[in-house]
Amino acid sequence: MAYKISDECISCGACAAACPVSAISEGDGKYEINPETCIECGACAETCPVGAPAQE
Ligand code: SF4
Ligand code: SF4
Repeated sequence: MAYKISDECISCGACAAACPVSAISEGDGKYEINPETCIECGACAETCPVGAPAQE
């Protein structure tokens, strides 16, 4: 299951920089993960200061 970013996201951009496959981009008010690209490595969840990315 791909990771998804919750509304807790404060749009800091750290996860996008950490993602090895560039699956994360800035969306409307928060960052978003492209489920087609995500390889479920968990780097975004480890990097996020507010724990917004989680596996569905
Ligand atoms: Fe990118 Fe890994 Fe997060 Fe998927 S789990 S969005 S591949 S950092
Ligand atoms: Fe949002 Fe967390 Fe990514 Fe920062 S690291 S943009 S708070 S999901």
